[in-house]
Amino acid sequence: MRTPAIHLAGLRKTFGPVEAVAGIDLEIADGEFFSMLGPSGSGKTTVLRMIAGFDLPTAGTVSLNGRDVTQLAPYDRDVNTVFQDYALFPHLSVIENVEYGLKVRKVARKERRARAEEALDSVRLNGFGARRPSAMSGGQRQRVALARALVNRPRVLLLDEPLGALDLKLREQMQVELKQIQRDVGITFVFVTHDQDEALTMSDRVAVFDAGRIAQVGTPEEVYEHPATPFVAGFVGTSNLITGPAARRLTGRDGTFSVRPEKITIADEGAPGTISEVIYAGPVTRFVVDLDAGVRMVVVEQNRRTGTAALAGLRGNRVQLTWLREHVIEIGANRAA
Ligand code: ATP
Repeated sequence: MRTPAIHLAGLRKTFGPVEAVAGIDLEIADGEFFSMLGPSGSGKTTVLRMIAGFDLPTAGTVSLNGRDVTQLAPYDRDVNTVFQDYALFPHLSVIENVEYGLKVRKVARKERRARAEEALDSVRLNGFGARRPSAMSGGQRQRVALARALVNRPRVLLLDEPLGALDLKLREQMQVELKQIQRDVGITFVFVTHDQDEALTMSDRVAVFDAGRIAQVGTPEEVYEHPATPFVAGFVGTSNLITGPAARRLTGRDGTFSVRPEKITIADEGAPGTISEVIYAGPVTRFVVDLDAGVRMVVVEQNRRTGTAALAGLRGNRVQLTWLREHVIEIGANRAA
């Protein structure tokens, strides 16, 4: 295997009594779009800060392109960080903001300008150089922050919830753009988010964080279709966990199982239950069904024909749920049961 862009070995970080990062081993490949996904407080940002050099690990090492950088200062590492709040200088124009890092490093004025123009180009903001950040939209400001990091041509770019401040529409648009930009520039992106859709949409691979540890690393499809633990199943999508006697009654076996909501159909035959909740959500409707087997299941149906009127009064109705055997996930088994 090629030397990984990032290699974390036995990485730990404690803040007094708090164990923020509890032992992480991870390799991120050169050119990969890698996401760290997990709930608030699970240690993602702390890992990112240790890669950047803003925090020193309590134990373990950080290597970048095969070189141990654990004890190096942030500016001696070939990484750049884009923060959620962008941290642009309000009194400088867009192009001056982008140039700033090069100026600090004493790059000659002409080259500086040329590289800043190129960076603005790569985030599709050519022509905006003379503006002040205050005259830009949220999404544009986010791209200026990105250009400001890209201009230094780092081998690794660290992004800490960079889309967090944007509204949903812009966020979804920027997700597609960020992925395209990463593909164009070809550098390694490490992206921190607590938004599972975001992680699944953009990443080559995802690490799911749970209380300072990585519960699973895999492609979006692997973590969604074959979650390694009940926590991953629940955090990445709706889990519909089936355990205990309900597992035996519905699958004929002991263990912990899950069926994703979109894999379940309301049909004429199947496991009987009662609709307890109907939630209309535009393109889809979510049904919460209490199965007689003793488990609550969420079912998602696309609203191809149905409108809200047809859904009214379904609550309390008796229904039957069915799914294909191959869509029963055995948690931790890493294969369909
Ligand atoms: P979020 O999504 O909310 O940013 P996160 O997964 O990035 O969360 P971290 O910011 O890494 O989580 O925090 C992990 C744990 O470490 C939390 O319990 C947090 O309170 C604690 N922590 C982080 N930084 C410090 C600090 N400087 N001093 C004390 N505790 C800290």
